[in-house]
Amino acid sequence: MASRICWHCSNQSHMTLQGRVSNVPYDGDGSSTWFAMYTCDECGFASLGRIEVNDIEQLMDAYANRPNARYVDSNRTFENLRAAVGWYANGPNADVDWYPVKGLGKEYEDVPTDIASAASEAYSCFFINANRAAVLLARTTIEAIAKDKGITKGYLSDKIDEMAKQGIVTDQLRDEAHEIRHLGNDMAHGDLNVEVNEEDAEDILGFLDSVIDYVYQQPMAIEKRKRLREARKRRSKS
Ligand SMILES: [Zn+2]
Repeated sequence: MASRICWHCSNQSHMTLQGRVSNVPYDGDGSSTWFAMYTCDECGFASLGRIEVNDIEQLMDAYANRPNARYVDSNRTFENLRAAVGWYANGPNADVDWYPVKGLGKEYEDVPTDIASAASEAYSCFFINANRAAVLLARTTIEAIAKDKGITKGYLSDKIDEMAKQGIVTDQLRDEAHEIRHLGNDMAHGDLNVEVNEEDAEDILGFLDSVIDYVYQQPMAIEKRKRLREARKRRSKS
């Protein structure tokens, strides 16, 4: 699936291809460059995707033999190439470079200001390719969440386990928090030979958002629901 951390809403979003792909003119041999407009499934804002096709023959074959394909005219006309690239661009294996590259940070509702600000800054780092800084800030944010919940003793590893023990996070979120800690520790302890690529940082930010959502946003959403329900009850009685 084509997906990215959206430059506008900062969610890890599926991107839906809009319309057809277009190409940078080329002579039909070798690699080619294509562009497509996508919209974010979360916020609807557009991103431009750049797709490099190295082996057009292989792509045409894959397109012709795709599951549920009806008759495919595999002549190398421009329209057929374009259809094949469009199919790839909207498919699960699409390797897309995204524009705009940069977002700002991320807004978090119903999250304590200092925690929201650290998490948002982790996103700001990610958007300027400062992936190690993003991971490091994600680790710091996890530690701040523990502190906010009154857990201050021991190493971060103990604090994460304690959060699970007290039911502040689920076992799965505990494991996600440990993943953030593992990679974050390498950065914090000066192990700079550990490479952190964009995908690593994306994963880590996704884990961080899951923890924040569970610890702060979901309880608040339930609270708001309850209040609405009770207000409705009161109205119907009066
Ligand atoms: Zn978005």
